[in-house]
Amino acid sequence: MNPILEQLLRLQRLDTEIRTLGHDLQQIPKKSKLIDEKVRVVKEPLDKSLREKSELEISRQELEAAVKSLEDKERQLKLKMPEIRSNDEYSALLREMDATKRERDKAEDKGLKAMERLEALEGELPPLEEAYKEGEKGVAAERQALKAEQEKISAELLARQKERQELQGKMNAGWFRKYTHIAAQRNGLAVVAVKSGTCQGCFIGVRPKLVQDLHYGEEVVSCEGCQRVLYLDDVSKNG
Ligand SMILES: [Zn+2]
Repeated sequence: MNPILEQLLRLQRLDTEIRTLGHDLQQIPKKSKLIDEKVRVVKEPLDKSLREKSELEISRQELEAAVKSLEDKERQLKLKMPEIRSNDEYSALLREMDATKRERDKAEDKGLKAMERLEALEGELPPLEEAYKEGEKGVAAERQALKAEQEKISAELLARQKERQELQGKMNAGWFRKYTHIAAQRNGLAVVAVKSGTCQGCFIGVRPKLVQDLHYGEEVVSCEGCQRVLYLDDVSKNG
């Protein structure tokens, strides 16, 4: 085979492999989601309870702060008592004190309910955690296999990319540019086989003269239909 054509064909094969590996790598998160789906039934109740717990803890803190500030307010209102000069002022102050106390009672009540629910959750969480742990155990092998698959693909991809870079370093820059140009225009496929006298890129018949040139291998031959670089595949070489 013509040495330039050999390089072009190798480059094409590497790019096809790189593209396939890239595609395979993209499938990993989807596969991971499928595994997640298997433990969803035990994960969701746990997540829900954990969410509830953290929300309750926040609201309990907020209620505690609210109670404290209402207590402060009540103290301030009491301090105003001796300064009262009229009955109207007095009853207004009593009303405000009363309203503040009711508000504080409400906050305390809510805080208590939050505490009670939190205590109940302390009992509900361990079995949910246990169920989730069991569920994860069931898919542990799958997760491990997927991780190994991802590592293998990544390593292969890296190796092919390195190989491609080395090949590019050895190649004639003009031919490399030409390859890149054709590949960009032809959906990533710049080098194709001729099978039974037909270009496998555009499926147009290749003139016998060009097929003969391919046999001699003295120059690089391009398809007149799609401009892709042609090579003879083994079957037609023997035939
Ligand atoms: Zn063609």
